[in-house]
Amino acid sequence: MIALSGKARLAGVMGWPVAHSRSPRLHGYWLAHHRIDGAYVPMAVRPERIGEALRALPVLGFKGANLTLPHKESALSHVDTPSPTARRIGAVNTIMVGPHGELLGDNTDAFGFIEHMNASAPNWRQAGRPAVVIGAGGAARAVSVALLDAGVTELRLINRTEARAVALAEALGPGLSVVPWHKRHTALEGAGLLVNTTSLGMAGHEPLELELNALPRDAVVDDLVYAPLETALLKAARARGHRTVDGLGMLLHQARPGFEAWFGVAPTVTAELRTFVLQDLAG
Ligand code: NAP
Repeated sequence: MIALSGKARLAGVMGWPVAHSRSPRLHGYWLAHHRIDGAYVPMAVRPERIGEALRALPVLGFKGANLTLPHKESALSHVDTPSPTARRIGAVNTIMVGPHGELLGDNTDAFGFIEHMNASAPNWRQAGRPAVVIGAGGAARAVSVALLDAGVTELRLINRTEARAVALAEALGPGLSVVPWHKRHTALEGAGLLVNTTSLGMAGHEPLELELNALPRDAVVDDLVYAPLETALLKAARARGHRTVDGLGMLLHQARPGFEAWFGVAPTVTAELRTFVLQDLAG
């Protein structure tokens, strides 16, 4: 870390709680790597005070902030200009303070997901083949938007609470169909991509129970869970010969646009950065 000057650029992450956030470590790595006169700090903000906290960013001279649980959805109504992507996803995870103190709200989760897919499984797009998305929460919304924008024309949504998947399919338009939870095993037939966006498989949670028999062997399997890095789903997929993509890269790539906007340097996701963040996950 370099000593800060009076001109240091400031950004941070707001969450409640915020102690679990990996973002300070991640941005701190890039700040040190690029020897930038700047700081990225954790900010514990109660849900009912998120509006006030966001309005304080320009007052305090912050360049912007990331948002994590539980603020991503509520922030949409507090920013002055939500980006079209943030509107479609229904959530903001990156705030930029404009030149006149206005708050610009973006969502970089879709960007992070696709960038990591492109880096880890090049040629993952299989023309005309459907993608299967398990889950219908915030992460599923971002992944669905990302896949539609990347040219996927058929998306099968599967969620334990079917009504949430139906609402997501209706919000994002044609191309999305909903498959009941109990039919998830056979819904993999013919798919080119399978993505788990649920919290199943996370350390301390139940595993995702999914039989992969119907999934074509050349399909890519992506799990957004990154603790553990290799979930039971990815392990089973790897054993069947599938190309697999873990959840850590999405976390790292989604941070790039914010860092560049706040600190003026386009950072890269490297093996060294992955190792650095993984040390924290293991700890
Ligand atoms: P969320 O909005 O709370 O959604 C949770 C999802 O998991 C819902 O679809 C929920 O289904 C499902 N689920 C939870 N427990 C379940 C169970 N016992 N059986 C079946 N389904 C269950 O959370 P989120 O923000 O979408 O995040 C979901 C996961 O993605 C988390 O593990 C998060 O860490 C991960 N994530 C990773 C990244 C990354 O950068 N890698 C980014 C965002 C999120 P119901 O609707 O039926 O409750």
